Amino acid sequence: MTSAPSRPLPQHVHTFVVGAGFAGLALAIKLDEAGERNYLVAERGDDVGGTWRDNTYPGAACDVPSQLYSYSFALNPTWSRSFSPQAEIQVYIQRVARESGVLDRFRFGVEVEHAQWDEEARRWRIRTSRGSLTADVLVAATGALSEPRLPDIDGIDSFGGEVFHSAQWDHDADLTGKRVAVIGTGASAIQIVPEIAQTAAHLDVYQRTAPWVIPRHDRAYTALERFGFRHIPGLQRLYRTAIYWGRECYVPAFAFRPELALPARLLARANIARGIADPELRRRVTPSYAIGCKRILISNTYYPTLAQDHVDLVTDRIAKVTPSGIVTEDGTEREVDVLVVATGFNTTDMPIAHQVVGRRGTTLAQEWAEDGVAAYKGATVHGFPNLFFLIGPNTGLGHSSMVFMIESQVAYVIDALRTMREDDLVAVEPKRGEQEAWNADLQRRMRRTVWNTGGCSSWYLDDHGRNVTLWPRATFTFRRLTRAFDPGAYHLVPAHEPSPVPAELQELNA
Ligand code: NAP
Repeated sequence: MTSAPSRPLPQHVHTFVVGAGFAGLALAIKLDEAGERNYLVAERGDDVGGTWRDNTYPGAACDVPSQLYSYSFALNPTWSRSFSPQAEIQVYIQRVARESGVLDRFRFGVEVEHAQWDEEARRWRIRTSRGSLTADVLVAATGALSEPRLPDIDGIDSFGGEVFHSAQWDHDADLTGKRVAVIGTGASAIQIVPEIAQTAAHLDVYQRTAPWVIPRHDRAYTALERFGFRHIPGLQRLYRTAIYWGRECYVPAFAFRPELALPARLLARANIARGIADPELRRRVTPSYAIGCKRILISNTYYPTLAQDHVDLVTDRIAKVTPSGIVTEDGTEREVDVLVVATGFNTTDMPIAHQVVGRRGTTLAQEWAEDGVAAYKGATVHGFPNLFFLIGPNTGLGHSSMVFMIESQVAYVIDALRTMREDDLVAVEPKRGEQEAWNADLQRRMRRTVWNTGGCSSWYLDDHGRNVTLWPRATFTFRRLTRAFDPGAYHLVPAHEPSPVPAELQELNA
């Protein structure tokens, strides 16, 4: 699949893209289409796919229907089910990459270590694990769910058995007949638990906060449907459109009227009642916060699995891990052979932010630590000229397809690059005031959302309780706002201008 990893990097490239997941690949394809062929995509892994390449745990599947969780410009008539399993999504991404003819511009096994804006040369100086280069434009398509977060639990390093994160599944570990523990009950864990319960001798599921879980309406497509997807023009788009608008109906409940989520709450409670007979276990799996505050999960098998005799739900807090098991705060020690850590990802502390140094000589992480994570339209950041994010701050979704958001952001970047070329600009940087106004509006809207008012803590919020992860409006609004690059919101630096630094920026530099 991969292009030759040993191919040297060029000394300079116009657009340097970091990450070859859904976002990086979409940008590459659209750059090609736009005739902007001077680009390179660097990927630290050995294949395209990003999170879908990495998350190979048993039961991994997408909880957004595949008709929508796919590129609008590369529909896939061969989806086998309404909710595709991971392997099928990965094959789809690989096929799109191959058929689009962009892979010769991809470099695998290349990890970005440092990127510094050179104000004089007006370009990025980038150091990677395979050498250095410069680029006019840097695009971070690194995704929000790429850095596994290991829990800070006393003694976890001393554990003598096998231990691995859900996103780094050890397929050599045979769980058959073993005592297994899963820490976490998020989106990954509730897919893993029903699968490994089938082979493990005993399974302990460590729950810190109960998730809301509604039924999963997954089914295999019929032969007639698959025939129709291939041969009836527009049929797949019709499915896609119906799913899109169905999902969009969730927005008011998330954004400003949490009480509208009552049907989902009733569905979730019925799901518990259907899967679990024991009233005490029912009580322990019933969340105490508003539905939607954390991501709503979907499964038909999670609750019945918890009800099985060889599966225990442990709700006492973990005190420590010993070489042979887990001790909870009530003093109980449970012996474990294999420990699965399904504790999520570093989302609000993006690793790439520590590597990127802007115009003022500070890393993005340092600036964000001071001012809070913020970008303009989730794409650009004041102080960091010619840096674009795909899936940047406040572009995540709790209800629909991230591929839709990615395509919106890709359109914005492509239009920015077109503007730069046509207007002979060497640098674009969002004005501080525009960025502040954008984020003030976002945070004002956040106050009414279920994520902020629902009574839970989640990875959507940063350490100060600010939601810097999600988009609080309809996705079609985001698309409208990012349809075209808006030069009026930017400091524009024309080529060959002796003093490119605007007064406001000179002040900041002083
Ligand atoms: P997650 O949703 O962040 O869940 C992490 C789980 O680990 C939570 O239950 C959390 O409990 C628990 N946890 C964290 N630290 C802990 C500790 N020290 N001790 C005990 N428990 C701890 O992570 P994820 O399940 O990997 O999912 C992340 C995101 O990936 C999802 O929200 C979703 O966007 C995406 N995803 C999607 C799919 C899909 O499409 N099907 C599948 C997997 C993942 P608390 O709730 O108390 O924090």
